[in-house]
Amino acid sequence: MVMNTQEEQTTVATMDLDGGAPCLDFVNTASGRSTGPLRERLRGYEDVVTIAERVGVLEPSEGRRLRKAAAAAPPEAAAVHRRAVALREAIFRLFAQDEAAGEDLALLAGEAGEALAARRLEGTAEGYRFTWPYTDDLARALWPLAASAAELLTSEEHRRVKECAADNCNWLFLDVSRNRSRRWCDMAVCGNRAKARRFSARQRGA
Ligand SMILES: [Zn+2]
Repeated sequence: MVMNTQEEQTTVATMDLDGGAPCLDFVNTASGRSTGPLRERLRGYEDVVTIAERVGVLEPSEGRRLRKAAAAAPPEAAAVHRRAVALREAIFRLFAQDEAAGEDLALLAGEAGEALAARRLEGTAEGYRFTWPYTDDLARALWPLAASAAELLTSEEHRRVKECAADNCNWLFLDVSRNRSRRWCDMAVCGNRAKARRFSARQRGA
């Protein structure tokens, strides 16, 4: 049996998007938090742009512009990458832990505040919408992710956020099943791994 786990050598470009919300797929760029070793897929600013594109909150043309701006300003890009990792871990704890940590909430509030302040109201053929300007500001890749987390945290849907039941996976997802019975980030990945582990435990016992 092929053992397929979220700890495989996937990258932000190839990882599954099972979270059900942009901020949860962003959280899932790391796994193995419980007992380690941490699988870190956000290895630099480019990866922040890539995950924002993949979850649909950044157009490819905007991504290209940000990659170019980052290449011209490596220290600034590194600083936004560090901000992204800190934001991601705060979002993980806010959704995965029962007790809200004040520091995590303050961090998200700061990032979401900047994100909302940067939004523009514009008219389109279909009506009006909030959007972010086409910009060289490297934080542009973070804004919609922080806004997504603040929106989910303040909605009724936040009660449906679950952590994968597999040991040390730590992926978060929105359980939209009718009876709220979903246990795994992906049945084909962590669900099968758990089944295989029970099977081999029985074999050893036999
Ligand atoms: Zn999992």
